[in-house]
Amino acid sequence: MLPQPARMKGMSAAFRSFVLVSREQIARNYASVRSVVGPAVDVLGVVKADAYGHGAIEVARVLVGEGAGWLAVSSVDEGATLRASGVVAPRILVMGGFLPFEAEAMLGYDLTPAVHSLEQMRDLDRLAGAAGKTVRYHLKIDSGMGRLGTRAPAAEIVAALAATPHAQLEGLMTHLASAADYTSTQTADQLAYFGRIAAALDAGGYRGLRLHTSSTNAIAYGRGSGHNMVRAGHALYGYVSPARGQAPAQGLDVRPALTWKARLLAVKELPAGALVGYGGTFRTPRAMRIGVIGAGYADGIFHRLSNRGQVIADGKLTPILGTISMDLTTIDLSHTSILGPGDEVTLLGQEGEARLDAQQIARVAGTISYNILCSISARVRRVYV
Ligand SMILES: *Cc1c(COP(=O)(O)O)cnc(C)c1O
Repeated sequence: MLPQPARMKGMSAAFRSFVLVSREQIARNYASVRSVVGPAVDVLGVVKADAYGHGAIEVARVLVGEGAGWLAVSSVDEGATLRASGVVAPRILVMGGFLPFEAEAMLGYDLTPAVHSLEQMRDLDRLAGAAGKTVRYHLKIDSGMGRLGTRAPAAEIVAALAATPHAQLEGLMTHLASAADYTSTQTADQLAYFGRIAAALDAGGYRGLRLHTSSTNAIAYGRGSGHNMVRAGHALYGYVSPARGQAPAQGLDVRPALTWKARLLAVKELPAGALVGYGGTFRTPRAMRIGVIGAGYADGIFHRLSNRGQVIADGKLTPILGTISMDLTTIDLSHTSILGPGDEVTLLGQEGEARLDAQQIARVAGTISYNILCSISARVRRVYV
């Protein structure tokens, strides 16, 4: 079943293209993650990439207001922006770690890095020693995704820990590459590898660590449970990826929190045989009423949706006609006569019975829902309701 976008009927804003974000829906999604993982597990609210296009500062405020003790971002820059905005998040994990030139801001803004190598543990130890403080960090293990994380054997990790007294290991984490794929053994293999490293650290005297492996899909399908922390991003914004293979029912009750609208700049009648847009890639098969909306690929409408995608106009799904331009998109309005310049159409969201969410758009655009949400550009104003 498709997730249902939150209802925001009658909500509007005086911009050509704008996004309405429901704070309440984000709070409900966070509560759903909380209830699925249970009270013994901490939830890191992932607000990287401007909270997947929803606005990191506002989303962080909502999550902290709901009692979130941890937020996660990708870079020191994102963490510093949150801190400087006055969001009083108790703890912020920087999942992408730090580069040498970011060390000062990282310490200054009290950000907690994910550390990806033994060498970086030693760098952090030197930094902390020089600053005269202990700095907490989470060590990331590459358990088989082949991206960030150390592949060092447990014995070498334990030896490096003993040699880095100013850097304080607080958490051990890994990232799963295929959590929604039940046709592959990759998740089981990764969890087994991670479990062996965690057990070896425990045996080496490193107890009571924050252990985290799960992001949205692993949370939804109940993989990697037994750890005491999870990292939830996509779920907070209302999405869980569909599973492949024999999966259990997913357990999260989340819905999209974002509606994206744009206004018509013009409505006009075209005769049969007329060409529309760059390259003349659409020719009207009959006399048609078309609408020209004030948003294009510079706003984040995928160029790939040219002659393929849809929008919702007057409560009905209707096709995008011709090539999407930088600032304009042409659509079929033959089904309605009530819309005119200044009226809104829905690019993502719900109008009447018609729904269009990021997963549906992604399928047509040949990408993933994350990519659709993150691509809504800074020019599109965010409005919080
Ligand atoms: C982005 C990210 C997450 C969040 O993933 P979702 O699928 O959006 O929940 C978790 N962990 C890491 C390391 C990430 O980069």
